[in-house]
Amino acid sequence: MEPIVYLDNNATTPLAPEVLEAMLPYLRERYGNPSSIHRLGRQSHEALAHSRRVVADFLGANPDEIVFTAGGTEADNLAIVGTSVAAGFGERRHLVASNIEHHAVLAALRHLETLGWEVTSVSADASGRLDPERLASALRSDTLLVSVMAANNETGVLQPIAELASAAHGVGAWFHTDAVQACGKIPVDVRAWGVDLLSLSAHKFYGPNGVGALYIKSGVPCTPICYGGGQERALRPGTENVAAIVGLAEACRQAQARLGTEADELARMRDALEAHVVERISGSHVNGVGAPRTPNTVNLRFDGIDGRELVAALDDAGFGVSTGAACDAGATGSHVLIGMGLDRDAVQGSIRVSLGRYTVEEEVRSFLVALERAVESVRTHRHFIEA
Ligand code: PLP
Repeated sequence: MEPIVYLDNNATTPLAPEVLEAMLPYLRERYGNPSSIHRLGRQSHEALAHSRRVVADFLGANPDEIVFTAGGTEADNLAIVGTSVAAGFGERRHLVASNIEHHAVLAALRHLETLGWEVTSVSADASGRLDPERLASALRSDTLLVSVMAANNETGVLQPIAELASAAHGVGAWFHTDAVQACGKIPVDVRAWGVDLLSLSAHKFYGPNGVGALYIKSGVPCTPICYGGGQERALRPGTENVAAIVGLAEACRQAQARLGTEADELARMRDALEAHVVERISGSHVNGVGAPRTPNTVNLRFDGIDGRELVAALDDAGFGVSTGAACDAGATGSHVLIGMGLDRDAVQGSIRVSLGRYTVEEEVRSFLVALERAVESVRTHRHFIEA
């Protein structure tokens, strides 16, 4: 396959070499089951305990507040279904989320709705932000849980998590944040944010696929969503994926060490990219502009364009970008952009460009050249673009 300039880091990131190095011994000779009593087992058990300390430190949490999961989707499901089922059909059966959450949150809420919970969706504003006062007006004395993502996967827009969490606590509700797109991009501190539950996923910040974690603040009741042995305090039964968990911990360590400088560098490239596009390509706009955003994410909108054609044309030219979340690739388009009030044509005309740790300026420059050509080509219905 031809090499690609990879600008789709919000979909997934390449594995960092340091992460792979840390994982390899656990894929080769350190294969013990962490529940085994012999020395190989104890070695894996110690690796798990160490990884838990590293992840907890990364989030400002205690190690016993971390549950390893098989990724962000599972962490979101455990947070939402686990706390709801733990509360049972008691006095609090009302759940609240923004209308721009990831499907991992929205589908879990829809499932609970079919089982008798009541769900309220609160709309983001045109810039993709959720106003804490707007959230407050949706809260009730029977609200059990509020779930609002820290950073949006399509626009990168950041939510005022501390204020939103404080509003939820005002009515005695728990607050969960899906921080899958925030971890590794902005500082994340569960105590500073005041959240009760927080989800993360390793493959969004240079760790392996299929591993994540849920922070559950000490004292927050949560039941498992699958059943088996006693691993992860019985909240996530099943033999632990030690190599992946070690990889997650190394990804956290790397992110912690690089956060400030990496974010500055990405923000500089992102700002230059956006300025160039808006100046050079007529009928172009930046979705979510004006709101605080993750430093790597650009959501661009072009008048008179089908974003899917543009993504295909850029792929032909050797550049990997996307129309948004993979789950929204169908005909209806992004629920996030619709949720921000964009009309159908504007939603269809949008693409996401997400830079990453390994993006270099030269790639951004060549992308901009290809983008100008691709937009012109798609607008005039010529699908072939010279690289
Ligand atoms: N939440 C957000 C905001 C995401 O961007 C994603 C991944 O696309 C997920 C949850 C799901 O994470 P995972 O792919 O690890 O299941």
